[in-house]
Amino acid sequence: MENIRVRFAPSPTGALHIGGVRTALYNYLFAKKHKGTFILRIEDTDQTRYVEQAESYIIEALEWCGFTPDEGPGIGGKYGPYRQSERKSLYAKYAQQLIDSGKAYYAFDTPEELDAIREAEKAKGNHTFKYDSKVRATLNNSIRLSADEVQAKLDADEAYTIRLMVPQDEIVVVHDLIRGEVKFQSNELDDKILLKADGMPTYHLANIVDDYAMKISHVIRGEEWLPSTAHHVLLYRAFGWEDVMPKFAHLPLILKPTGKGKLSKRDGSKLGIPVFPLSWNGATAEDSFVGFREFGFDIGAVRNFLAFLGWNPGTEQEIFKLEELVEAFSIENIGKSGARFDYDKAKWFNQQYIMAKDNKALVPEIRQIISAHGHDASDEFLESVAGMMKERVTLMPDFWTNASYFFEEVKEYDQKTIRKKWKPERRPLFDNLVERFEQLEDYSADQVKATVETFMADHELKFGDVLPILRIGVSGTTKGPSVFDMMALIGKETVNNRMKKAYDIMDNYHNEV
Ligand code: GLU
Repeated sequence: MENIRVRFAPSPTGALHIGGVRTALYNYLFAKKHKGTFILRIEDTDQTRYVEQAESYIIEALEWCGFTPDEGPGIGGKYGPYRQSERKSLYAKYAQQLIDSGKAYYAFDTPEELDAIREAEKAKGNHTFKYDSKVRATLNNSIRLSADEVQAKLDADEAYTIRLMVPQDEIVVVHDLIRGEVKFQSNELDDKILLKADGMPTYHLANIVDDYAMKISHVIRGEEWLPSTAHHVLLYRAFGWEDVMPKFAHLPLILKPTGKGKLSKRDGSKLGIPVFPLSWNGATAEDSFVGFREFGFDIGAVRNFLAFLGWNPGTEQEIFKLEELVEAFSIENIGKSGARFDYDKAKWFNQQYIMAKDNKALVPEIRQIISAHGHDASDEFLESVAGMMKERVTLMPDFWTNASYFFEEVKEYDQKTIRKKWKPERRPLFDNLVERFEQLEDYSADQVKATVETFMADHELKFGDVLPILRIGVSGTTKGPSVFDMMALIGKETVNNRMKKAYDIMDNYHNEV
């Protein structure tokens, strides 16, 4: 393939939605697969929507994902600067070029004038006034005004915008690598503003000028940009750059977990699930979100999950490391229809990733989780916890929520099981069990197990009579890894103390009934 250069071009208007991360992922995979260049370009020309912390959020999110740009702000490259606000003069120059070649025109209509026209049209029943080829000749622009009138306005520093002159009666064809030929009737397209009254370019102009100037070979972005692409094709044509126009690939929408409608950032808080890569503290609670990272997701699992939101490898394989994704990725295997944001699947991926990790590798991660609750333990201890628990957790914080009893005293007891299994008349027997544990010199899982088995035989008890009591005593719950392993790890003294305390608690529950 030719020299592949792709760009991820987010606007710093807030936290980067998970859909944006998928776009970055696909661009990254495509670039790496073809030994190309992955560029980060910050599209910050819309001053009204600019959010201070958004750029650093984007960069941190890409870093977390491992998508290191080859060129970008703070990285450099031959085609910089990579922040559009720093390229302002370039856009004005190109807008002027279109004016000179008659492909664009000055529009002096003030926002108030346009509002008034819109209102008047509404009164006539037309609710969709568009500044387009049908009406442009009646408006306050260089199409209607004479050259002298235009010059006088320019000399008087009257505010203007520059608009693209969309040709009439044409079919504009967008060749999309995912959707094939997509056709637009030019009469449906408005004369988009290219340069705003404040001298800043709009998205359309800046995007095309930069894709051209940065020698972008492929534009891979969300489906919501497909309608704009008709204008983009016209812009390439107007500039005479058609022969170097990038190839387009518009990614399918990401749908809500129900499969109905587009996933929105509000769905996150509504459903209690992450829809952003990292947490974001916005100005209001409504604009603050907990990220995948802070939910305790492994980045490998997130990448794997996102890769499958719209793409499939064409095989049964589901678990892909980043290098494997690079190897397997192709635009041909991206689907057209919306991809459901299946949060359960995201958790499933995460579970697979945790399970596949080496116990030692999990030690620092578990330490981080438990330290948030004021606890620590030795490496050996944490490694054992990793081994016992990793098949029983979905997200990293589960190492605390499902296994806090490894690190602190039991706080909650499963009352239902206690009511069913605790027989107060057996208290002397169970006291005797603790005495037997106290005698043990080698408090290993095997020895504890052997002790329990002898105890059962002596008193004609079954596993079902004893194990739930042991489990509740040690951990408060009947769920968890092998109780003998748990006991051996927690240690004789702690376990014995816990058992004695639990018997009292169980007696009390029983008396309450
Ligand atoms: N700045 C646009 C965005 O925020 C870029 C769209 C594109 O990739 O052309 O998504």
